[in-house]
Amino acid sequence: MIKANDPILKSWVEVPSNSDFPIQNLPFGIFKTQYLSPGAGVAIGNQILDLVYLNSKGFFKSLNLPDGIFNQGTLNSFIALGKEKTRAVRERISELLQHDNSELRDNKIAREMALISMEEAEMLMPVKVGDYTDFYSSEQHAYNVGCLFRDPENALLPNWKHIPVGYHGRASSIVVSGSNIHRPKGQLKPADAEIPVFGSSKLMDFELEMAFVIGKSTELGESITTEEAEDHIFGVCIFNDWSARDIQGWEYVPLGPFLGKNFGSSISPWIVTLDAIKPFKIAGTSQVPKVLPYLEFDGDRNYDIDLEVYIRPEGGESTKVSHSNFKYMYWNMCQQLAHHTVNGCNINVGDMMASGTISGPKPHEYGSMLELSWKGTKAIKMDDGSERKFLQDGDEVIMNGYGVKNGIRIGFGEVTGKILPSK
Ligand code: CA
Repeated sequence: MIKANDPILKSWVEVPSNSDFPIQNLPFGIFKTQYLSPGAGVAIGNQILDLVYLNSKGFFKSLNLPDGIFNQGTLNSFIALGKEKTRAVRERISELLQHDNSELRDNKIAREMALISMEEAEMLMPVKVGDYTDFYSSEQHAYNVGCLFRDPENALLPNWKHIPVGYHGRASSIVVSGSNIHRPKGQLKPADAEIPVFGSSKLMDFELEMAFVIGKSTELGESITTEEAEDHIFGVCIFNDWSARDIQGWEYVPLGPFLGKNFGSSISPWIVTLDAIKPFKIAGTSQVPKVLPYLEFDGDRNYDIDLEVYIRPEGGESTKVSHSNFKYMYWNMCQQLAHHTVNGCNINVGDMMASGTISGPKPHEYGSMLELSWKGTKAIKMDDGSERKFLQDGDEVIMNGYGVKNGIRIGFGEVTGKILPSK
């Protein structure tokens, strides 16, 4: 049992009952305000606990942290301290926030300086992402896309149940929640045309994914076993892998996604530690055929975390268009990491590995417009009466995620992004 996860814990900081950020969560992020330069913080209720301030006032003295570890503009150096240290920091923060701990609670000045309203803060990219990999690990999604781009008879390619299929994405275009995305331009080949045309994508889409952040590097030549994998994962965030289906459909053979994917991916700003989501561990689907030994694993490695997608038209109200769950992964994160490194590929702290679109078996659980509209053959009704097959300019896509157990809700906050016209 991780002490900071104890459902019995209560904080002296007010936490609304529907909050994603009770004392049992304590996710890490990077924020700035009008007065404070970028630094690390932890979410609690509707507030941010300023770790730069707390460290400067000696609240972490017993942990012997390096000077300035929290005011570096990203969490990479903090994460690189290793899980033993970062776990101790989370435990110490939990202690300081517990209702019966007076250290910070009764220190009026420190308390007021250390707690910042989320409304006054701007969240920034939490990590410097060196490399980004996107997997393709939800069976329903892979099946649906196989049906739509090929045919239902051969929807899953022969390798799919043997290999956690993935590709190397583009780290430079990963942006934090709230960033706008310009509709990409490129080569499009309408189904009835012989040759491609150049223009703005007409089939703009989101992909509902989760991503994990690497917390421990490896040397070139080393491999990580499924058993060791969790030790290399710092935490998890929600990941919207924006996709232009018309660019993708024309370019993806034979080397896979390229310009249809690399124009932007948005992440939720709080990295929820792997420790915090431990209570939501659940068994995945049984894997048949049997996987090769290096992909075998023990215990429950999937997570029961609800995921929702909303679309808000320009100036309008949002409509929920999907409700999926992280548990619908055929390949779990440990298998993904074991596979990624089995050839000796090295990984670095801050690298990001996304799950691939997470679709459940029911149509309302599909994690992309491509699947929800079945490649534009079905319209999705919006609450304002309008319809969508793909995203329109001005549409804002909002994703959130949360698990609830023992009355405790551990959430991820939101990742939002708005589609603007092409530049
Ligand atoms: Ca993707």
